[in-house]
Amino acid sequence: MTTFSPSAEQYAVIHHPLEPLRVAAGAGSGKTGTMALRLAHFVTNGSIEPEQALGITFTNKAAGELAERVRLAVPVAASEGREVEITTYHGFAHGLLAEFGPLVGVPRGVRIVTPGYTRQLIRDVIGAGPRPLLDLTQPGRVADRVARLASTLGDHLRSAADLFSESDDPVALERNALADVLQAYERRKAALGVVDFADLVTLAHRLVTEHEGLAERIRERYRLVLLDEYQDTNPGQRELLRSIFGEGFPVTAVGDTDQTIYEWRGASPDNFERFGMHFPRAGGAPAESRNLSVTWRNDRAIVTVANAVRGQLHAPGPLASIEARPDAAGGTVLTHWAHSARVEAAWIADQAERLHAGGTPWREMAVLFRKHRQMAEVRDALVARGIPVEVASLGGLLEVPEVVDLHAWLRILGRPDDAVALARILTGSTYRLGLGDLAPLSGWVRKRNRVEPDDETAIGWALLEAVDELESVDGLSSEAVFRIGEFRRLYRTLLSAAQGVSLVDLCRVVLDQTGTWPEVDALEDAARLSARLNLYRFLDLAEEWSPLEGAPSLPAFLDHLELLADEASSGELDTARVSGEDAMPLLTVHRAKGLEWDVVFLPALCHDVFPSRVIQYEDPVTVPSVVPHGLRLDTASLCALPDDPDQRRAILRQAHDDQEWRTAYVAVTRARHTLVGSGAYWIGGTKPRSPSRLFEILDEAAGPDPRRCSDPGAPPTDTPSVRSAEAPDPVFPTGWRTAFAATITDPTLPETLARAAGLSAAYDAGVDQLRMMLAGLPEPGPRDAGEAAFRTSVTGLVTFAGCPKRFQWSEIDRLPRRPSPSARRGAELHRRIELHNRGTVALDDVDDGFYDSVGEASGAVPDAFARYKASRFAESRPLLIEAPFDLSVAGARVAGRIDAVYEPAPGSWEIVDFKSGRPTDDDSRHVQLEAYAVAATEAGFHGGSSPDRIRVTFAYLGADGLVEVGEDVDEAWLADARNHLNRLVAEARSGTYPATPSAGCRHCDFSRFCTAGAGWLEQNQ
Ligand code: SF4
Repeated sequence: MTTFSPSAEQYAVIHHPLEPLRVAAGAGSGKTGTMALRLAHFVTNGSIEPEQALGITFTNKAAGELAERVRLAVPVAASEGREVEITTYHGFAHGLLAEFGPLVGVPRGVRIVTPGYTRQLIRDVIGAGPRPLLDLTQPGRVADRVARLASTLGDHLRSAADLFSESDDPVALERNALADVLQAYERRKAALGVVDFADLVTLAHRLVTEHEGLAERIRERYRLVLLDEYQDTNPGQRELLRSIFGEGFPVTAVGDTDQTIYEWRGASPDNFERFGMHFPRAGGAPAESRNLSVTWRNDRAIVTVANAVRGQLHAPGPLASIEARPDAAGGTVLTHWAHSARVEAAWIADQAERLHAGGTPWREMAVLFRKHRQMAEVRDALVARGIPVEVASLGGLLEVPEVVDLHAWLRILGRPDDAVALARILTGSTYRLGLGDLAPLSGWVRKRNRVEPDDETAIGWALLEAVDELESVDGLSSEAVFRIGEFRRLYRTLLSAAQGVSLVDLCRVVLDQTGTWPEVDALEDAARLSARLNLYRFLDLAEEWSPLEGAPSLPAFLDHLELLADEASSGELDTARVSGEDAMPLLTVHRAKGLEWDVVFLPALCHDVFPSRVIQYEDPVTVPSVVPHGLRLDTASLCALPDDPDQRRAILRQAHDDQEWRTAYVAVTRARHTLVGSGAYWIGGTKPRSPSRLFEILDEAAGPDPRRCSDPGAPPTDTPSVRSAEAPDPVFPTGWRTAFAATITDPTLPETLARAAGLSAAYDAGVDQLRMMLAGLPEPGPRDAGEAAFRTSVTGLVTFAGCPKRFQWSEIDRLPRRPSPSARRGAELHRRIELHNRGTVALDDVDDGFYDSVGEASGAVPDAFARYKASRFAESRPLLIEAPFDLSVAGARVAGRIDAVYEPAPGSWEIVDFKSGRPTDDDSRHVQLEAYAVAATEAGFHGGSSPDRIRVTFAYLGADGLVEVGEDVDEAWLADARNHLNRLVAEARSGTYPATPSAGCRHCDFSRFCTAGAGWLEQNQ
């Protein structure tokens, strides 16, 4: 049972009778724990069984947290068959369709398209037909408007057909044109056999309302339903739940209307406000409501700010205010107003350094932005101070320098006419050309395009073609010709390397060939960690992405990235993924919902920035892409819109402002102890800014700031020049690449350069550190004379033990292998585990063959890393990580790499090999453990020390939970292992490779032409 001890108001919620109940839970009020205890209470008193409870929440992350709390509160629910069903709102609708979908014409295995693909499909249908009433100069924008319309209609259980009207008003005519596109989109989905998120709810609602008895059948499965984050549900979801769990069913809805920040994607505060009416008690009386108003997260000063922010809402939620817990500390609020965004960013870096020096880890300080475009200045200031940062918003990630460069290379490889990307690369730190250097190239293009100016069918010349025809471009300096020539050579290499590789492999090739990793490695520790985290995140993105149709092509991926750069797109909807490394997370407020930190910085608190001003009024009278109020299911709670446009705008502005203040409320309540607000006169634009009301609220709670800037003065003039032909680093006036090349012939050069630049101390410290690292490397094992003739790996020996024929075709007479996503996932898991253990890992080393990935091809699962993180291993620091060895066995060399060695007690080693799949009864894998145990005693790890005791363990992370298969190693075990390895190597060297078919043939690349294997498979189907 959990040790969570409830407060009086939590107790009242937990013990409230089994009937409909609304719980208004303030930020940080312990709602998840309270819900779990409410469930535990009814399980303990025998009212319900765990499997009769259903928990629904908004995101997979929240569902995971709720499931964890329930397991702690109701231990019996951890047993098989007794689990509480916990899902997301979309997951619940999807589950109904998976079970009963054919009743409404939806096949059971129907695929769901994400919002990103929705836009892709809509773009396709827009391009497929004449759309005379739509302004298609920006088709992407039209697609966004249609996607938004489709989603809103679905939120209110409507379809495109409901939008059409007879009116000849221009707005109605354009809305009809949009409805046409929507109907084409609906037909396209039907043809592809897919549904979108809005369809899930609409179809599930049709299912339970049109098929008599179905709602009762579903309801009978449960005795208690917990609805989490209910304020974020849309009216369609409410109606679906109401049709099943209305009429007095014990539904507990928990939420906080003050944290409704997703109205723009359908959330309706009306759902929470009118819960009592929507879900009445059995006799028809409205459901009761209880409050959780004490925050267990925030210190007092932050609670004061949060209540003041709530006070700005025109329509606050049911809580009068939130209160600090009785033993809450005072907390700190700091503010600063600076001259420019650059000075503001430097002040933030000062504060972060000061707080870190006082003991706050970097990972416990987050910077939250209203828009990701505000991120770059702060990120640069933090990185310049050597503070590790992690950009956790995808939109922001695409603006990180190292990712921008990679993205630019992908763009010119996928779209050779992308002149912006080309210019970015040529003017970047590698080629260091100025815009003036590029002028002859664009002159060459202009001249070619002028040749046939009236020919509308002619395809224009692109800047890249000028690069390709470099020799015919006049006016370039010899240095520019040299550098552009270098670029052209690399571009051609990458073009051929890009053929036939996966997206993630292409990214790796680009990083490799452009020398990104050595550049990253040359950075200071913190900047290196930041750069690596950001690049890994991008690689994850490339790896996880797959298109709806066809192969994952580079152009389609580039389209997808464009959508991610848009803050309103799907990629920005869920809570950010933060790695847990000791780096400061930078993310937007919307992505921070559900997260909390000791310290939170809120920059750019300027008038019209945060809270932001209205960009476009959501006025259904004048905006065709806004659904008319008459079609909405929450009409009753909306203000009637008057005919007068000014009065209408006043009402709509109020709704917008409330949305912004709720976002501000979410932002300030993320801080446990310290909240820091800042802003500046000059953050872009031609006029100085003034502090926003949000800044003033923080300022009232903060002490006076003597360093505050009180005079906007002139705008800053320190904007970096776009013409940056100067070498960026004074230590390497001719560029570090040239210095690197020169070092090969003159090894004393780095020292000479460092001393000349006055960096002797830093140079000496770096050399010392390198010496220590070298000293820590394992000594090479003794070599037998004449042994070099035969080499293999641990993976090779395991393959040989399983089937010598397979070994022959994999290692001796190599035949092509099928690409294996499972094997890649296995390598990816190992990379992540290594990153977790070590903090950094050289990614350019990582490919499928880097780790001993024995057996990873069978059943590697994508979420194995989550299981690792939940395992005992994630908590312990290994003695050795990815320890390579090179053993002498029977006159041959056998190379391998141990995932991790732990030392639970002095002299006692546990050697662990992580598997991304499930356990199998394949004996050949045992060879891997034998090799590792022998290596532990002979390979001279850890400065040559040998352990007194050894245990070898396979940790399988592909099963439902962690499965460990381990053995203790003693002298006899070791002797047997040694003999077995000797025997295997001797047989492998003999040159005879019989086929030994077994269950392993099922995963063998060669089974299609291996007669023995094919025969075995036929007999054992
Ligand atoms: S198919 Fe079976 S028998 Fe043939 S090589 Fe592969 S593992 Fe060996």
